[in-house]
Amino acid sequence: MNGLRLEDLWLGTLGAVVSYLIIEVILLLTLLVSIRLLVTRRKIGYFSITLSLFILMAQHYQLIYFELTHSTSDLAFYWAILLKLLSFLLVNLGVYQLYNPTRLRDGIVFLLCFAVTALFSLSYWYIPDWLQGSSEQIRLLRPLGIELFLFLIIFVSFLLVNPRIGQNIKYQLMLTLYFCTHVIHMANSYVFDGVQSVLTKLEQIIPMVLYIVLFLFIFERVIELMQAIYNSSIRDGLTQLYNRKYFYNRVRQHIEGRINVSVLFSDIDNFKKLNDTKGHHMGDQVLKQVANILKEETDQIGICGRYGGEEMVVLVTDTETDASKLAERIRARIEAETIVTVSMGLSRYSKNVTADELIKQADEAMYKAKTSGKNKVVAC
Ligand code: GH3
Ligand code: MG
Ligand code: MG
Repeated sequence: MNGLRLEDLWLGTLGAVVSYLIIEVILLLTLLVSIRLLVTRRKIGYFSITLSLFILMAQHYQLIYFELTHSTSDLAFYWAILLKLLSFLLVNLGVYQLYNPTRLRDGIVFLLCFAVTALFSLSYWYIPDWLQGSSEQIRLLRPLGIELFLFLIIFVSFLLVNPRIGQNIKYQLMLTLYFCTHVIHMANSYVFDGVQSVLTKLEQIIPMVLYIVLFLFIFERVIELMQAIYNSSIRDGLTQLYNRKYFYNRVRQHIEGRINVSVLFSDIDNFKKLNDTKGHHMGDQVLKQVANILKEETDQIGICGRYGGEEMVVLVTDTETDASKLAERIRARIEAETIVTVSMGLSRYSKNVTADELIKQADEAMYKAKTSGKNKVVAC
């Protein structure tokens, strides 16, 4: 009796089972990530993807079963091909839902797709009645209608889903790999009668790459979501400046490190009047403009935040920067580039000062600027 050779792990029944098991592991990892997303986010898109991953796993267990038992049951083949179609449709639905709000119209389109798919799959049972030929030929031709239908779904996904999820490169790669696998599968089944071992192996290897890309696609979504959650917890939604809490913590951190920082406290002059005369929307636009000037001027040298309504603050972290020159530059740019002016106060780090005190000193200096004519910088 021959011992186990290395190529057995690659070719033949054992090779196929090993390939499918690797795919199962990749799918299982993807499934765990998608369940995690589903539990925390409860979005319908994650439900579709989770369900499709369950189906994909079932489909690959069935492929392993076929390899080991050499089953030729018609019903088992029918289920295999139906699972293949449904899982592909569900993955696409899930991907689409991840990037789009679920609208009734889209729901109806996808439901129609599922209904047409289910109806089409029934051709598997009727084709034998329409065909003449040997039982071997009929066995081969039975799934042809469904296999061709899968090409149509791949094409429709490229056409309809791809543009609606921002032409995502990973999604395009997934569709391309899926398409390649299916072409190879068709060529191997219908042209070479399934005897080309290179094609059979490709049929097993390309899906591995495909499901790794799917894993990366979903994992990237997790990271994007985590980043978005973290960002929204530290930034102000309107100006995208850091919020008060985050800003305060950064001031405290720097003071604890005894770094020679400065704080600029700015308040837009007569902002209430601008809101009253030009409207709140205009007020918001001006807030964004002022915030952008602050961001540009403090890039690499400081951290800026929105402290309150129209109060913005800067922590000058670069000890080489002349904070009063920086404040004057910001004030002058706001006067020149927007329809408002700002009053600014400046405070500098001193020994034993606390974060609260440093910010309060800058606030008080700003108040002096307000009471002595506005549109100026005052250092405490
Ligand atoms: P002063 O020159 O003394 O600072 O006068 P002011 O009118 O700017 O001062 P005040 O603090 O009385 O008014 C601030 C106004 O800022 C009140 C509020 O309606 C407006 N405001 C606060 N937050 C927002 C916002 O997010 N958007 C808009 N459009 N307005 C805001
Ligand atoms: Mg104010
Ligand atoms: Mg004001």
